[in-house]
Amino acid sequence: MGQNVLVTGGAGYIGSHACKALKTAGFVPVTFDNLVTGWKEAVKFGPFAQGDLLDRARLDEVFTEFQPVAVMHFAALSQVGESMSEPGKYWRNNVCGSLNLIEAAVDAGCKNFVFSSTCATYGDQDNVVLDENSAQFPINAYGASKRAIEDILRDFQVSNGLRHVIFRYFNVAGADPDGEVGEFHQPETHLIPLMLDAIDGKRDALTIFGTDYETPDGTCIRDYVHVCDLVDAHVLGLKWLQDDKDSRVFNLGTGSGFSVRDVIDHSRNVTNREVPFNEGARRAGDCTKLVSGSSRAVSELGWNPARSTLQTMIADAWRWHQTGHYSE
Ligand code: UDP
Repeated sequence: MGQNVLVTGGAGYIGSHACKALKTAGFVPVTFDNLVTGWKEAVKFGPFAQGDLLDRARLDEVFTEFQPVAVMHFAALSQVGESMSEPGKYWRNNVCGSLNLIEAAVDAGCKNFVFSSTCATYGDQDNVVLDENSAQFPINAYGASKRAIEDILRDFQVSNGLRHVIFRYFNVAGADPDGEVGEFHQPETHLIPLMLDAIDGKRDALTIFGTDYETPDGTCIRDYVHVCDLVDAHVLGLKWLQDDKDSRVFNLGTGSGFSVRDVIDHSRNVTNREVPFNEGARRAGDCTKLVSGSSRAVSELGWNPARSTLQTMIADAWRWHQTGHYSE
């Protein structure tokens, strides 16, 4: 049997893809999830331990039972808009929950921690190349909560030798090309799945959130990365820690920015269908442009984001959209 890796949020979108990648790489992914936003059916690649990060006693039980060699921490609330209207939820779940997890890992002697952070920690910085040394000025509670967890990890490195790899994700999209797992949020708030729903009439027209941004076509620009490429980087990050390399931060984006209108155009081409949309107001907390200006993950981890073209991401998401889903 391979080594156990504790995957928090393993029943969620990114966590379930990570479990598949870990299994493929010879590890045993142990999913820890409270199933509030995750799906039991997505836990397919290793054992499942149900629990909540705010329940320290349950965390201790799971560390004792599975003795993981590392933690991959995906579990989080992650909606920018909701974080602006309910910040307390984000500080409690994300920050207090992560602190419990970090302390449980340290107490169990688990020294390797891979953390999913976000480009939202950088905030809205006009004309700044966002690399790992960029200043972090989050403009929403989601980004602020993730930045706080990064700080906690740095402190526990000093105090307890807990080593970390922090990944700052840009916009994650696509689905497992084998169709075993995919993106399924309830409620859905993300651009591409909402667009695909609008295309096949599962919901009303997509609303573009803001057309008066300082961008060439007035809509927000994002850097999209395929979920399979993203989780490959996590396996490389885990190996990085197991090779005794220093704690490190890596952006995960391709460096190419696409506007909301670009995504609509690509979706029309991939699906051969019209995209019903209308133009609405800005969404609170949205940055104008978030594009990675770093290739550190490529040069240092040997990461190859080969599936991260908009075409492939939308095609994979569309296939999943038509064939795969979890019970509602
Ligand atoms: N967006 C939009 N309409 C929607 C959902 C999202 O115009 O119904 C825009 C949003 O303003 C942002 C981009 O699409 O510029 C990506 O948003 P998403 O929620 O997918 O990811 P986020 O950037 O918030 O992590």
